[in-house]
Amino acid sequence: MATKQFQCELSWSASRAKEWERCQREYWYGRYASWGWWTERPRGQKYEIMVHKCLTSLPAHAGDCAHRAIQRWFELKRDGATMTTNELLEECVELFRDGWRQSAGGGWQDQPNKSVHLNEHHYGQEISKERTEMARQLLERSTQFFCESAELAAARDAHPDTWRSLETMDTYQFLGTKVYAVPDFAYAEGEMIHIYDWKTGQPREADIFQLHTYALYACEKWSTDPENIVLHAAYLGAGKVESIPVDLNRLSEAQDHMSTSIREMMDVHYDPEVDDLMMGNWPASPEARKCGGCRFRGICTEATK
Ligand code: SF4
Repeated sequence: MATKQFQCELSWSASRAKEWERCQREYWYGRYASWGWWTERPRGQKYEIMVHKCLTSLPAHAGDCAHRAIQRWFELKRDGATMTTNELLEECVELFRDGWRQSAGGGWQDQPNKSVHLNEHHYGQEISKERTEMARQLLERSTQFFCESAELAAARDAHPDTWRSLETMDTYQFLGTKVYAVPDFAYAEGEMIHIYDWKTGQPREADIFQLHTYALYACEKWSTDPENIVLHAAYLGAGKVESIPVDLNRLSEAQDHMSTSIREMMDVHYDPEVDDLMMGNWPASPEARKCGGCRFRGICTEATK
């Protein structure tokens, strides 16, 4: 008897929770509707939904380029080499251009799930020179702040032997559910663990919640005491770092929030290959403001204009 290769398991991350809170129909599109696209012959609806699931936006692409370039900065440091501010910026700009070419030139079609495909190109929206210039300025500010600011000196100077995490996707179990954690950078200083999250967008309360989910990961993964963890939300574009020593009350609030979120998702979780789809479990939140930026708006029957 053929065994099933993959199973549609429930898993959780802070970004999935945000998707759920925005619109449960969006969450359904993102987590279930394209399940099994890789076996769909001929390609059809599942493949089309996967293509929409992989869409990104111009600011998100710029942020991803900054993350990947900084990861490269650390990898070079580990190999004993260095990267100047200008070289880091060049790396970001090159990554940005590569992604732009994949998206605008149609190269994304070869591997939509591993390529850059911008929402704006997909929906035929003009991207003004002003917006690309803003993205360039964001990369300039971010690289300069990363390489030169006093606030990030400790992270830059941490010896590679003390590093605990560098953009490594890992998971831990919470309420029997797999939780994804991808701390951008973490290092140890004696008993203390410092966890960094690079942000190129504006500060949001959700950022601090996300960092607390990484603190839980640190407790689980490295058996660190919560009191020995410091979280750093590094707003590279805005040029500031919010450093938060972990506080047990806040950690417990984050756990409560995660429990609620996981239980809500668990209640309606199903296996699309086995179980019947109950569309009523996935209500749309069709506010024009939300649908306007939603990557599924071109295929969603509930999208508002
Ligand atoms: S288009 Fe609107 S209703 Fe449809 S999934 Fe997106 S946000 Fe939800």
